[in-house]
Amino acid sequence: MNFKTCIRCGCFFSSNDSVCPNCKTKDEIDKTSLKQCLANSEIPKNYESLSYLSGVSVKNINRILEAKEFSSLKDSFNDIDINL
Ligand SMILES: [Zn+2]
Repeated sequence: MNFKTCIRCGCFFSSNDSVCPNCKTKDEIDKTSLKQCLANSEIPKNYESLSYLSGVSVKNINRILEAKEFSSLKDSFNDIDINL
């Protein structure tokens, strides 16, 4: 069994995911919020505005947008080169 450190909360867990089961649920909620925000064309597409409007931290936005399902949405960002 492989133990990993959750990249979201730092706890130890065993799974093939990069986040623990608790945070996986939170990630799903964040993904839903982000999708809703990204679908709204009135919203400026940068990480800070998105973080403010979705309640998802910039750190988590940065990570979540790496997911394949967001690859097309990510193209609409103004400041994609944000460094944390
Ligand atoms: Zn976690």
